[in-house]
Amino acid sequence: MNKLLKKICNKKFRYLIYPLFLIIFSYLIIIISAEKIETSLIFPWWDKEENIQLSAPFDYENVDISLSQKEHISWIFIDNKSEKTIFYFQGNGWNLNYYYDDIQILKDFGYNVMALNYPWFWWSSLSPNRKNTQKYVEIFYSFIKKEKKIDNSDITIFAYSIGSWIALNFSKSHTVDKIILVAPLSSLFEMSVKEYGFILQKYLFLSERFNNKENIKYLKSPLLIIHWDKDPLIPLKQGKWIYENAPKETSYFLEIKNIGHNLVLQKYKNITKWFLKIFLEKWKFEKKYYSIDENTKIPEIEKEKVIDPLEKIKKLDFISDFSLTKYVWIWTSFKKIDYIPDTLTRIRGNYIKDIKWWQMLRKEALVALDEMGKDFYTKFWVKIAVVSGYRSYLHQMQIKANACPDTLCSKPWYSEHQSGLAIDLWETTTEKEFLSKKELNSYFLWLKENAHLYWFHNSYQNGVEIDGYEKEPWHWRYIEKDLATYLYEKKISFSQFYKKINTKESKY
Ligand SMILES: [Zn+2]
Repeated sequence: MNKLLKKICNKKFRYLIYPLFLIIFSYLIIIISAEKIETSLIFPWWDKEENIQLSAPFDYENVDISLSQKEHISWIFIDNKSEKTIFYFQGNGWNLNYYYDDIQILKDFGYNVMALNYPWFWWSSLSPNRKNTQKYVEIFYSFIKKEKKIDNSDITIFAYSIGSWIALNFSKSHTVDKIILVAPLSSLFEMSVKEYGFILQKYLFLSERFNNKENIKYLKSPLLIIHWDKDPLIPLKQGKWIYENAPKETSYFLEIKNIGHNLVLQKYKNITKWFLKIFLEKWKFEKKYYSIDENTKIPEIEKEKVIDPLEKIKKLDFISDFSLTKYVWIWTSFKKIDYIPDTLTRIRGNYIKDIKWWQMLRKEALVALDEMGKDFYTKFWVKIAVVSGYRSYLHQMQIKANACPDTLCSKPWYSEHQSGLAIDLWETTTEKEFLSKKELNSYFLWLKENAHLYWFHNSYQNGVEIDGYEKEPWHWRYIEKDLATYLYEKKISFSQFYKKINTKESKY
């Protein structure tokens, strides 16, 4: 070592020392300057004392994770009882509570909102930089995934100013449903050109930092950029550069005239809200680029034609024998006395069993029954047991021969079983007996809540006066989808419905 030093200090090498020292010194200056520029432009220092807490105009849950004594991650969660959630990444300036007005607007769209506090506010004493922010966002995300069980396809990111970098950086590794960037910066390089002129940053290696122009190329979600033309902090052109690099098909731009950086969603509230609403609900606009000011009229929101489900159901065919909604009851028969459905299939399936012998059903009813059986099985671990399916005119006549009363066994030609759509489940004789059996009772309660999802309906639920037959918790009939849903929602039987729509004072 000594030898080496001596060698260096030899006159021969002395001329090398000064330049070497100069290079190392310059390099250090560059590194420090780059960090300084980053801090001053991206994470300026704000006095925590000034960051007073404002009260929120909404209820929220404050979530706080301590990573160590000094390190806390905190965010707020507004539970709107929605499946959809917005991640809100604020700008750099202030505590989260300065953004409550924006958050309120997002909340009013019916979404849950999660908003992250950045590392340097509130309790955290960590310094703001890229690494800390990235780390915190990942922890925030995995906590939310676990605790709130939110799926990526239900997450929309709303990011403001520097939040745009956090959002795009995040979406490189996690694909979310949609992204909204408000006044996004293109990169630290361009930010520093704007502040300090052009020469400096070439030598400060700034171009790779906060490079949204590059990150946007990886975006897989629909994008809406909102930017103001008079933004003094992050000029409009930066937002446009990002937009130009974004996937063409799924990206939109909204330029708002005559406003600066800090009014966010507050100015031209109604117009801005309209754009957000369309984007959140459909994300597609007619044009790619919009430029609006205070005189812009809000486009008429296209009213989707809501078809009244009742009007649709009323048009179903209740008359033809083969119709899924053929109405038969104690006084209404099939048209043809010997009507036989043409897709009768033997009752067999993975989750149903025929406990008599060689029972038949119409194919569509059988498929639906097995599907229902599958879900039934995962709940009760037993197969649905079918006692009776299709019954022909002759078969029904044999049943009647045993002197079964009309209110329990229908007359031949009048039975729903002749449609090949009706089934009787589990072997019992009366409603009382059926419901007094603990398992059968729980099966019935499950069917009552779920059968309509497979288009089944409990035909006789009100007794003789209304439905023409005694209550039959075992008798289920496959019916058309909308009608099954309607009857379930209104808690009425097919008979009640049919009679109502066939009288003038129809209320349903
Ligand atoms: Zn029956």
